[in-house]
Amino acid sequence: MITIKSEKAIENMKLAGEVTYRALQAVKAAVRPGITTMDLDQIAEKTIRDAGAVPSFKGYGGFPGSICASIDGEVVHGIPSHKRVLHEGQIISIDCGAIVNGYQGDSALTVPVGQVSEDAMLLIQRTEQSFWEAMKVITDGARIGDIGHAIQTYCESFGYGVVRELCGHGIGQNMHEDPQICNFGRPHTGIRLREGMTIAVEPMITMHSPQVYQGDDGWVVATVDGSMAAHYEHTLLVTKKYPIILTIPEQMRKEFANEC
Ligand code: MG
Ligand code: MG
Repeated sequence: MITIKSEKAIENMKLAGEVTYRALQAVKAAVRPGITTMDLDQIAEKTIRDAGAVPSFKGYGGFPGSICASIDGEVVHGIPSHKRVLHEGQIISIDCGAIVNGYQGDSALTVPVGQVSEDAMLLIQRTEQSFWEAMKVITDGARIGDIGHAIQTYCESFGYGVVRELCGHGIGQNMHEDPQICNFGRPHTGIRLREGMTIAVEPMITMHSPQVYQGDDGWVVATVDGSMAAHYEHTLLVTKKYPIILTIPEQMRKEFANEC
């Protein structure tokens, strides 16, 4: 069931979103050759707990980490490990979530490890840009297919793959709520967005083929052809105008509002 959020719910989601943002920024700042994905997990968990929040990923469906740390051809759901050491030239996708007063924030980004190839950097940048392309079409009355279409057409114009098996989602008191928000689709189709809906939009984009498989650990999802993948995500609130990003600090929201 799709829920329209109360003002109180949205205030709590902004709080959860800001904690999520801070955890992701702390992890991003720590990414370098030689660090392990478990080190990054601990940085995120400490940031979240120090803020009095709860890491939403920890224990979700049995997931052991506070972040998902997915390297190179891993698309999402990489389990943090002491054994996974980052190396120069890799890219790492970090997905993170926090709960404040029972409400969720969910956000992800992809970071280069040291110097990376131009192709890798472009994949990261264009995956993020596809999120902003989606932002342009998200408004009260728009439809879910408009979001998928915006992401898909932008990414496929570079020959990238759009993963079909994984999608964005509604979010609120639960991390995953209705509706499902795919990164591919036809315009003017699907459920209508309404003011007060909160959704996580999260393009998961591959360098070549969009085909993915699930790893032996039952979590990690990786590209079949081994090529790199990138991920970018924010939780946002649908309004009558431009959507409001919940997984950034209040100050940044004000700056965005002034630009739009
Ligand atoms: Mg996420
Ligand atoms: Mg999500």
